[in-house]
Amino acid sequence: MLFLLARTQAAWQPCGKRLALVAQRSVPAPYSATKPGMTIQYAIRPADLAGHLFHVTITVREPHAQGQCFRLPAWIPGSYMIREFARHVGRVTALAGSRRVRVEKLDKHTWRAAPVRGSLTLAYEVYAWDHSVRAAHLDARFGFFNGACVFMAVCGREAEPCQVKILPPDGDGRARWRVATGLAPAPGTRYGRFGTYAAADYDELIDCPVLLGDFAGAHFEAAGAAHEIALAGSVPKLDTARLAADLARLCATQARLFEPRSRQAPFSRFVFLVHAADDGYGGLEHRNSTALLCRRDSLPYPGMREAGEKYREFLGLASHEYFHSWWVKRVRPAAFIPYDLTRENYTRLLWVFEGFTSYYDDLLLARARLLTEDQYLQALSRTITRVLHSPGRLKQSVADSSFDAWIKYYRPDENTPNAVVSYYQKGALVALALDLTIRAATAGRRSLDDVLRHLWREYQLAGAAYQGVAEQALPEAIAQATGLDLTRHIRAWAEGTEDPDFARLFAPFGIALQRSPVLETPARAMLGVQVRSHEGACQLAHVFDGSPARQAGLSAGDQLVALDGLRVTPATLDTLLARYAPGDQVEVAAFRRDDLLRFTVTLARQAPLRYELKPAARASRAALRLRAGWLGTR
Ligand SMILES: [Zn+2]
Repeated sequence: MLFLLARTQAAWQPCGKRLALVAQRSVPAPYSATKPGMTIQYAIRPADLAGHLFHVTITVREPHAQGQCFRLPAWIPGSYMIREFARHVGRVTALAGSRRVRVEKLDKHTWRAAPVRGSLTLAYEVYAWDHSVRAAHLDARFGFFNGACVFMAVCGREAEPCQVKILPPDGDGRARWRVATGLAPAPGTRYGRFGTYAAADYDELIDCPVLLGDFAGAHFEAAGAAHEIALAGSVPKLDTARLAADLARLCATQARLFEPRSRQAPFSRFVFLVHAADDGYGGLEHRNSTALLCRRDSLPYPGMREAGEKYREFLGLASHEYFHSWWVKRVRPAAFIPYDLTRENYTRLLWVFEGFTSYYDDLLLARARLLTEDQYLQALSRTITRVLHSPGRLKQSVADSSFDAWIKYYRPDENTPNAVVSYYQKGALVALALDLTIRAATAGRRSLDDVLRHLWREYQLAGAAYQGVAEQALPEAIAQATGLDLTRHIRAWAEGTEDPDFARLFAPFGIALQRSPVLETPARAMLGVQVRSHEGACQLAHVFDGSPARQAGLSAGDQLVALDGLRVTPATLDTLLARYAPGDQVEVAAFRRDDLLRFTVTLARQAPLRYELKPAARASRAALRLRAGWLGTR
């Protein structure tokens, strides 16, 4: 998963001192497994485009003698938050032949039909009006759904193979609609057409999202697999050839990382399901597909030469989700074996699975020559700046952030920057620090790549006996892959809140870490807050730990009214503050709800800093060799 949190990272740097029934379980099968017999049939139809309603039926032969239960997941793997998809389910009915069968609801997401003999059909509708990659969407332009929010599991029968009939919407104007999905077509259906698709079990059914519509498309071969791009949302002048060529290079580079000999991907077909919109950014990984949401202006157009920042961001998103095909879809924490879709699944390893993925997403763009060395170092500098400016990293470790993702990282609020560290961003930096440490200690003979390959060989999904990666497995895996004991480093950087010393870690690579002042908005930084416009007023979105505003008693949610008696708005705050020097006192008037309060704020001394990685003008041959090995330019 990759998504954009509200920009909560602190833009303020403290001065010098450290701030301070049957559980719904889907046992993973090897993804290529096929099973005989077909007793569970799903059907889904875009029934009401204007009302955003899918109509779903599930037909079960020989349902449970005491009454068959059906249950919808409470969350979707890859996005670690309880989402209660059942809240969008309505009008649940059941039939045995033409006879109506009673259905009762047992809990928030479980239904039970009265006992019947023979065959039972459950029918319901699902409201689909969510633009994210995690749920379902339907209107007259296109439809998209994740199985986790439309297909109930047949309780106790999750391991059985099933089929889903994907039906077209009624009405004119949809004759050109097609289907894109990682599901394989059943005999009699041609891929891409409406018809019947097959899944080896419920786990596969809900791990293959489906896009419906008259979407743009492109195909390419890479890593021994057929790849498809299915793109919903109008993008004028889309350069599909460029998109396909760049993704092909990226996919081949990733397969080479995990399988340097065969260079083969672990699937024969992969689909990028892309929704290009006016705004939005996010992705969700699946076994042989990914759903991506991006801005339409981030996609390439004919004649575009340099990949601009927005396109590089899109490529980074695609890289992140594709990497997950190996890393979290096929090598998983033991805590996800099997997924329990009824409740939170706790692991302290999301920093390994999401953090390592966040590290490699851009690094592999650089190795695929889709980023220059300079562009990659700039991207890395931005991540270092964001993390080192986030006060939350001093209170929470990435291991703890992983464990509490369900209630903290995925549910940000005004206190998040002060209390929570991103296991994506700091996790990526820990991966970087481990990689640099291994490369420097082994003179470039070993790297984090070897650790990944070791875990890939030892832990890839392999049937019912699959155990997954144990919570404490990483230090041992590193030792086996590299001969180095990095237990102490992991304890400090990942299980503790220590920052890696990047200046020291980059030195053997001939790269310096420089601090430079940020000049854009020094004034705002002097209060130590992040503001947002709320009904035209200047509201404090975040008040950072240890900041002048915090010391004076201001809180998130307060509405700034005046500075030294002059009215303040979001547009005038910086201009007003620019007249003051660090150390000056300013009288701040603010509404807290409807109470007018006054505060005396002593403005901060120090403007924030930006960190920048700069290759040294002169580097030793050994340093250049290490750097070339790391960036894949050797
Ligand atoms: Zn991810």
